[in-house]
Parts: sequence; C-alpha cells; structure tokens
Amino acid sequence: MSQPILEVKGLKKYFPIQGGVFGKTVGEVKAVDDVSFHVREGEILGIVGESGCGKSTTGKSILRLIEPTEGEVKFEGKDITKFSSEDMRKLRRDMQIIFQDPYASLNPRHTVEKIVGEPLLVHGMKSKSERKKRVRQLLEIVGLSSYHASRYPHQFSGGQRQRIGIARALANHPKLIICDEPVSALDVSVQSQILNLMEELRDEFQLTYIFIAHDLSVVKHISDRVGVMYLGRMVELAEKDALYEEPKHPYTKALLSAVPEPDPDIVKERVILEGDVPSPANPPTGCAFHTRCPFAMDICSQVRPEFGPVDDQHFVACHLYNDK
Ligand code: SF4
Repeated sequence: MSQPILEVKGLKKYFPIQGGVFGKTVGEVKAVDDVSFHVREGEILGIVGESGCGKSTTGKSILRLIEPTEGEVKFEGKDITKFSSEDMRKLRRDMQIIFQDPYASLNPRHTVEKIVGEPLLVHGMKSKSERKKRVRQLLEIVGLSSYHASRYPHQFSGGQRQRIGIARALANHPKLIICDEPVSALDVSVQSQILNLMEELRDEFQLTYIFIAHDLSVVKHISDRVGVMYLGRMVELAEKDALYEEPKHPYTKALLSAVPEPDPDIVKERVILEGDVPSPANPPTGCAFHTRCPFAMDICSQVRPEFGPVDDQHFVACHLYNDK
C-alpha cells in the first residue's frame, strides 16, 4: 500500500457572522469542524455530502485558497498551514484544483493558449515558444487539438471547457489535484467521458485526486475510497465497495437509499430523512445528525460521537458503533 501524500488532522474552518451596527462578530458558521483523513499516493479519495456540508470548503482549505481556522495539512510530510505565501506559491505546482464551472474559471477574454500557458509562465517557463509547444502537448493529452489553442472559452462546449481546465491543472506536472464538483455542470453523457479521461490521466501521470461531489454515482465511478460529510464533519470513510455495499452510518444509508437503482428487479427500501439540514451556524449538540436520525438514542443529543474504526479500513462517527 502506498504512503499518504496528504494527511489532514483536525481541520476547522469557521466563518465569522457579523451583526449589529458596529459589525461585531456575533457567531460563527462551522463550515468544516474537526475533519481528519489521509490520501495515499496514486489514490482517488471521493468526498460526498449534500450541498453546504463543507466538502468544497475542505478542499479549498487544504490548498489554503481559504485559510483554515485550525488543524494540520501535511503534504509529503510537511505541515503546509505553516508555509509562507512564497512557499505556498511554489507548492501550487504540486497541488492543483479543478472547479465545478469551467466557464467561470476560464477568463473569457483570454485564448486557450494564454489560459493554459499562464501557470507555465508563473512557474518560470519564460520562453514563449516552449510554452506554445507545452500548451499544444497538454491540449492533446486532454483530448483536444493543437488548433484549439487560438480559440476563446465561449467557442467550446461544456465538456471541452472542462478539458481546458484539466489541461491548465496538469501544466506543471502536479502530484495532487483537488477536483471540486468537476462534472456536476455537465450533461450525463459528457460526465462519463470526463471521468474516464481523469482516470486515464491518473494512471498515466501517477496523480492523486480528492474528488468532491454531491452525486454518489459519480463518486462511486471514480473513487478508491469515499468519505461522507454532514454539517462540516466527516461521518464515515471506507473503501468504496465497503461503503456502498455495507454503509454503517445512518446518514450514509439514507443517502444511498435515494440513489436510483438501474436494475428494476432490485427493490430498495428508501430511508426518508425527516426535517431539513440544520444551520452550520447553530449545529445540534452531540451528533449533528441526531435531529434527523431514525436511530437516535438519548446519548446522541448529548455526546459527540468519535470518528473511529469499525475495522481496519472503515471509520464511522456514530454511537451505534462506538463501543466496538
Ligand atoms: Fe444516529 Fe446517534 Fe449514530 Fe448520530 S450517533 S447517527 S444520532 S445513532
């Protein structure tokens, strides 16, 4: 088994809530609240959860695109939360991000040549002809053609634009790519093409991905292991097959029961969750899921369950398993 390339320990991101005439801090939104996990080299770790569960904030905090409030983020053994901005700038060669909306993340006034060539320039490739050559090579790697270099983002389809985003992320030979809902803005038929491309690139360039998405089928397609987040916390983490076939946490069970089953002979029992997701500005005490959990016990509203192992590779934060 390969070594962890990334270790996240006790990561927190709290956003202050300002109120009153003087704009004083009157509370905080706990977008990410004590999240820990690791990612092995060459692995694809999926992170799923409903919108607002903190999965995208986790991704951006790891890259320090937003500053974490607390916690450790070790990349290749070094805690990068302590890095200076200059060290972070250099590190961004190794750690990249692909965003959900390729159109919003590509400057509409720049040609593909400039968009994909920019990270090369930032990281020291001064020669225009070298950049031109590398951009064309990158476009071919992601399934576009070299003549696309002179075009503008609006001249491409959604899937092609995401290929441009991937080419830009690959420019400086990164080791880790955080993919933040990279296919959710795309048609289903295009989604699988992009997912297949990402898998091929992982194998060809020995990449490691954190793949963030709300769609459990998409995450199942691409991930080796999957973590489930609820209200800023990781509630379950396991190898993909174990998580999808034998989910432990009641929230994971409910999420999976809502995924349509392609085989009409399989009838699934749907778990209907009562109530809305509580506000992360005022999360429930104890287990954050207790207000909606069909198995809630007295202890659940009082004591926060530890995120602990149920076996070697399967972790869960739930009092139903904590005694084991
Ligand atoms: Fe449900 Fe309690 Fe487990 Fe939370 S700790 S998921 S409320 S059983």
